[in-house]
Amino acid sequence: MGAMLLALVVLGHDGRRVAQLFALGLPLLAWMLWPVRSRRIHRLRTALLWLGAMAFAFDGVARGYLLEAYQAAPNSALVLASAANTNGREGAEYLSMHWRALVVWAAPLMVAGWVFGRCVRQGARATAPWPPWAIGLLCAALLLAAAAHASKPWRRLHPVVFWTDWGHSVQALRLAWSDQQRARDQAMQRAREAAPMATRAGPSTVVLVITDSINRDNLALYGYGRATTPRLLAHQQLLGDDMLVIRNAWSVDASTLPALRSLFNFGVPAGESPQHLLALARTAGYKVWWMSNHDDIAVEQAHARLADVVEMVNRTPGRAGASLDGELLDCLQEALDDSAERKLVVVHLMGAHPHYSLRFPAGENPFDDQVDAVETGLVESGRSSWVRRYRQEYDAALLYHDFVVSETLQLTRRAGRPGDYRAWMYLSDHGQEVGHVSDRAGHSPTTASGYRIPAVIWQDPPDASRAAGAALTPFRADWAGWTIADLLDIQWPGAPPDRNALSAAYRWQAPVLPVEVKSFSE
Ligand SMILES: [Zn+2]
Repeated sequence: MGAMLLALVVLGHDGRRVAQLFALGLPLLAWMLWPVRSRRIHRLRTALLWLGAMAFAFDGVARGYLLEAYQAAPNSALVLASAANTNGREGAEYLSMHWRALVVWAAPLMVAGWVFGRCVRQGARATAPWPPWAIGLLCAALLLAAAAHASKPWRRLHPVVFWTDWGHSVQALRLAWSDQQRARDQAMQRAREAAPMATRAGPSTVVLVITDSINRDNLALYGYGRATTPRLLAHQQLLGDDMLVIRNAWSVDASTLPALRSLFNFGVPAGESPQHLLALARTAGYKVWWMSNHDDIAVEQAHARLADVVEMVNRTPGRAGASLDGELLDCLQEALDDSAERKLVVVHLMGAHPHYSLRFPAGENPFDDQVDAVETGLVESGRSSWVRRYRQEYDAALLYHDFVVSETLQLTRRAGRPGDYRAWMYLSDHGQEVGHVSDRAGHSPTTASGYRIPAVIWQDPPDASRAAGAALTPFRADWAGWTIADLLDIQWPGAPPDRNALSAAYRWQAPVLPVEVKSFSE
């Protein structure tokens, strides 16, 4: 039992923590030696010992899984925010995508359940004379365990204490998100103090399409081997250089919440009272829409509710049974038909957020029945068959995504009267690993694939002062706010021009990512 306990602790902890956790588990082992005559008490002890030992098993396995999949501890911001921000539907999608890994990790849990089940039944029943060294050893162990429980930093690691605290942290985070009205009021106040001005005369319509989990390497528009973007390529053929495809675009965050915070707050940390792009746009006279296919309370509270009009189609009963991104196109058309002079429409798509097979209409996967160069390449790189199938589904999701994104561009191009200013920008919050450099699929803070995003801009009339070479200069999404402010043509004192990718004064600085990137220009 002691060996099993130690093995489980090692699964989720390392260094000094292993000793600390083991010391906290010692009372379980010591209790086994306590002679119990009563049958009832023996049964009660058996049950409690099993539950206690399984708490350690669960702790080790849960930590081990999070460490392997995300290099994250359960109380890291990434895991806490994801747990607080999820719902039943997303939870089910996560399970259906990651069940293989979860089955693998459930195996040690089942073995532990069986081993502990056998051990705890053999707790001591009668007093037997003990040799002095055994009594000495027991006393030392109990002393160590008492010290471990007396020390607060040690005690906090106890699985029961830790996971109870964890549950409270998740609840507290949810509560903090439930009403951010005050934070939004402050953002509006800061924007008013900055006094942004829209300098362009006449009507102005800007559509910002933010998608999810799109790795640019899988877009034919960026040279991918599968025909995933026929419509965007047709647009490019028609529009030529007016459609600016930024080849080297990077996200600096590998998950949605931090990525959107960076984007809308100009890459300025929350502690430094950053401006919010939507608050600035509204203050400068734009009517702002936020339409979303996400059912995401944190994004809604931090960003969407700053808009004048908020449409969360994924939450409208009956409308979005399949919750495909195309559901948003009618909303976009309505916003574009609105009579406001200046309009900023934010369209937040699901893109190819896992599970991929739910991101395109059933049966519309043209990549699953042929062996092409992509498939061959994946086989040669030793990718497993399930990762290869995820790649096919991912690419099918991108093909449907191509239709939705192209429609948003088409609707923007047709909006307003001839000669009215219109602009459209499309980018992803972060990338995705689908067998690109490792044999797995999903969000990926630890590989460059998690940060490789597309970014495309169209403007009419085109900007004559646009920096030459903007298509090849690297671009970072946490600075995208400066570029979007340029598309909106709003200016305020103190706005630096060197982070606006469309400005001749743009100066690229490589971001610090938690993963090594050889070159940001490829
Ligand atoms: Zn995302």
